Amino acid sequence: MLDSRELYQQIILDHNRNPRNFRAIPAPSGHAEGNNPLCGDAVSIDVTLSDHVITDVAFQGAGCAISRASASLMTETIKGKTRQEALDLFDGFRDLVTGAAEMSDPGPLAVFASLRDFPARVKCATLAWHTLRAAIEGTTETITTE
Ligand code: ZN
Repeated sequence: MLDSRELYQQIILDHNRNPRNFRAIPAPSGHAEGNNPLCGDAVSIDVTLSDHVITDVAFQGAGCAISRASASLMTETIKGKTRQEALDLFDGFRDLVTGAAEMSDPGPLAVFASLRDFPARVKCATLAWHTLRAAIEGTTETITTE
């Protein structure tokens, strides 16, 4: 039997090796780039919005396993959500990884809960979310976690 921490580790490694929605969207409604200089993670997010609903989201970039897995799981989690639901999930996710509060119904994002013991990696996990928010809100500056 795997304990949950080992299982979570395997899910993260799987998303790192086979990231979901790893592509560009032609003519997206929103696009943003993000950097985490602390670790060297870089991500770009494309999003398609239709009536405030995220109908498609994709990412590209290079970085550590945590940053790639987080971006991959994020795209799977937010597709079909409204813009506001996605921003609320970001708030919950940030609470989850920092340990500030429990996230209600984290779903697959629970795999990142153990990061609260590794504060230096929190920026790796939140980079894609910060960048998503910029893509949704139409920010054109490159996002940095620093
Ligand atoms: Zn990283």
